[in-house]
Amino acid sequence: MKILVLNCGSSSLKYQLFDMEQEEVLAKGLVERIGIDGSVLTHSAVGKEKYIFETEVSDHKVAVRLCLDALTDPHHGVINNYQEINAIGHRVVHGGTFPHSVLVDSSSKKAISELEALAPLHNGPALRGITACEAILPDTPQVVAFDTAFHQGMPDYAYTYSLPYELCQKHLIRRYGAHGTSHQYVALRAAAIVGRPLKDLKVITCHLGNGSSITAIKDGKSYDTSMGFTPLAGLTMGTRCGDIDPAIVPFLMEKEGFSPADIDHLMNRQSGVLGVSGVSSDFRDIEEAMASGNDRARLAWDIFVYTAKKYIGAYVAVLNGIDVLVFTAGLGENSALAREAICRDLDYLGINIDKEKNQVRGQEREITAEGSRVRVFVIPTNEELMIARDTQAIVTAS
Ligand code: AMP
Repeated sequence: MKILVLNCGSSSLKYQLFDMEQEEVLAKGLVERIGIDGSVLTHSAVGKEKYIFETEVSDHKVAVRLCLDALTDPHHGVINNYQEINAIGHRVVHGGTFPHSVLVDSSSKKAISELEALAPLHNGPALRGITACEAILPDTPQVVAFDTAFHQGMPDYAYTYSLPYELCQKHLIRRYGAHGTSHQYVALRAAAIVGRPLKDLKVITCHLGNGSSITAIKDGKSYDTSMGFTPLAGLTMGTRCGDIDPAIVPFLMEKEGFSPADIDHLMNRQSGVLGVSGVSSDFRDIEEAMASGNDRARLAWDIFVYTAKKYIGAYVAVLNGIDVLVFTAGLGENSALAREAICRDLDYLGINIDKEKNQVRGQEREITAEGSRVRVFVIPTNEELMIARDTQAIVTAS
């Protein structure tokens, strides 16, 4: 079965074509600057030269067509015609209370559209991608996989905010979490390496990238996660502030005359390690600035590491223990310094990593020190494969 996985952003479309027999990626690519001047497609396929094509891409339908044309191109492509694609899986950031991936039909489309208010930058583009595929490939089944779905297993006391209950019900305010597909993928992968079912393990997964979240997993389900109603909550991130005292919001609005849009921009785009360091949102730049003695870069780093430690500690408490700790995403997979700093002095929890083994970048590796009670892994995430697997399972069952 060949499955195309699409990830539509507001001005971009990422794709991967999988052959599910070996779970192999046949081709992947990216259309950038959709609806903006200077649109470009970058496409690479197994055994073929990289293909870069600059052309006008006015909307997501044109982008989908461009991706399909690259996949079927006699020189750069890997399939002969569109009909070789058996199903399409879409990444959708906000799935509200959907507990798993679902087939695209009028009711799932309506739900995604209704949830647009909770993820305005993400659900709209995903819906445009779905509509484009329906128009171009009307007979090909489509599935949507939600970033929020894995976290639907959380107990009510983990997802309910202590605000007036009726108001939260009215506006669908609760913890939804994010990066669910990534947390689930790396947890399943860690369980496979350990050789025990995920449902029998207490796992904490750290998805540390530009956006970061930490999840506590019990009985194979997300028990709690650091992101909340939106992906602004939790850890200090590249440009997002993470957890702050909510009273700071009205205080700043009053003192600085900020509108809701201003304060939203400030917390999402100008805060986090960028806001504290004044250097960059990229942890590579922070590491470099720290090494050359920049105090604010050091402070931003320390805040990040400290928050990550606090979440791990809190989750060990609510899980009543921990068997496996996993690091993933840009920083988690690539930064030995970050992993070392986060795991330092967690030996009382049974977490010890091996300094040598920890010198790994972007590869799957166990980094547990000898004698450590908790097993620690670096596992590159693969959300696309998870979406392809879900798509295959749902389409096959239907
Ligand atoms: P992601 O959002 O998962 O794509 O992660 C992107 C972030 O990972 C970048 O902004 C960097 O901060 C971080 N990152 C990637 N590679 C490295 C590295 N080698 N060392 C430190 N940070 C890295």
